[in-house]
Amino acid sequence: MPGIVIVGAQWGDEGKGKVVDLLAERADLIVRFQGGNNAGHTIVRDGEEFKFHLIPSGILYPDKTCAIGNGVVLDPSVLLGEIDGLRRRGVDVANLRISANAHLIMPYHVLLDTAGEVKLGKLSLGTTRRGIGPCYADKALRLGIRVQDLLDEKILRAKIRVALEPKQQALRELSVHRRKLRKEAGEGTRQGGDQSVAEAPDPRLDLHAMSEEFVSYGHRLEPHIADTSRLCWEALDDSRTVLFEGAQATLLDLDHGTYPFVTSSNPIAGAACVGAGVGPADIDEVWGVAKAYATRVGAGPFPTELDDDVGRHMLERGHEYGTTTGRERRCGWMDLVALRYAVRLNRMSALAITKLDVLSGIETLRLAVRYRSKEGAVLDRFPYHQSILHSVEPEYEELPGFEADIAHCRSEEDLPAEARTYLEFVSDFVGVPIQLVGVGPGRDQIVWTGSTAGLAAS
Ligand code: GDP
Repeated sequence: MPGIVIVGAQWGDEGKGKVVDLLAERADLIVRFQGGNNAGHTIVRDGEEFKFHLIPSGILYPDKTCAIGNGVVLDPSVLLGEIDGLRRRGVDVANLRISANAHLIMPYHVLLDTAGEVKLGKLSLGTTRRGIGPCYADKALRLGIRVQDLLDEKILRAKIRVALEPKQQALRELSVHRRKLRKEAGEGTRQGGDQSVAEAPDPRLDLHAMSEEFVSYGHRLEPHIADTSRLCWEALDDSRTVLFEGAQATLLDLDHGTYPFVTSSNPIAGAACVGAGVGPADIDEVWGVAKAYATRVGAGPFPTELDDDVGRHMLERGHEYGTTTGRERRCGWMDLVALRYAVRLNRMSALAITKLDVLSGIETLRLAVRYRSKEGAVLDRFPYHQSILHSVEPEYEELPGFEADIAHCRSEEDLPAEARTYLEFVSDFVGVPIQLVGVGPGRDQIVWTGSTAGLAAS
């Protein structure tokens, strides 16, 4: 099947990196289509751990082409850091291609992201403060700087000048606001707190220095800059397999997620077309990746969240700490109301369930099958009104847990009967076959279930 999209089915960190890595083996081209270095994939290969924020996970295969699509926002210093890190470990990055149309995260985007979050205080969104949101905002405002601009010093400088001016103004205002707050808090003019917020004039906002820095990035990135849409068309027209790699996840989608506690791009399958430059008919399969439980980073509604020993079990056994920020993830039961929503929104054709091993040792497993609103109404569907979602109580199906360590299981028959029942329940409820199940972080720690009886719906 030539065009396969891989998306997160929950709130991110589902283990997409590992699933992409596994499917990449059968693909020729792997394309990231949205997000920036707010994503973080971890892949464990022969006991060696690789963390990627921008480069598609397929880079570990020397014979595959990996592309950063036009829908991605790219911090060149981060990308070059990843390229250097991979080279040091002997990974060849010659096959990396970067869309000339992708937008660049500039130093002022990072400063604005941080300053904006600091200003929001308790109401902050919990962004990764990497400048992703402000960069997408500039793209929509037509003030963005694109990868292709790196190749023309004159244009680059002119575009930075135009984009920089309103940022300096905004950062000055945020800085004044901060000083006022400090004064009110009795801190006088003493320096402290978050030093990364701009106190004008900030040397990081110097037009000349910034232009020089980005010109030098351009020199280094030039061999990788390409028309990545054309690469996709050529591969697809030639019946070669293209993997479209999503970052973040469905419930963090800018349009369909739990706004405003979402990411600033569209991680759903439909966005693969825009973010890579292909048509809907180029997509043959959509794989959703979901953990056997649920986690969420940062603020926002999370109906099945646990604040007890089971939640701590998931946190510790699942090592639920962010790849990008190191933040503790919130943990809870798998939410089938939300998953069914994600299945339909992405029109998923398959599910990969990861981290089933983390559930071993939990006596009774729970799966949210409906919500009850504050007023007592039963909700079978994911509510479109955010206030309702904030206050719903999930109702659970209870299934027996399993004691055995399943890290060594490699076939469906190896799994305890309770684990199989759990997976079957999930698959039946959302109406999508489970194609593979993760039983540990290692590349080989998987159970392919698609072609075996029971789990595959067709
Ligand atoms: P992504 O952003 O969706 O790729 O997810 P992350 O890489 O941030 O988080 C997934 C983490 O879970 C990584 O540390 C993986 O090595 C790990 N992981 C992936 N699949 C499994 C699994 O089946 N079991 C366990 N225990 N860990 C897994």
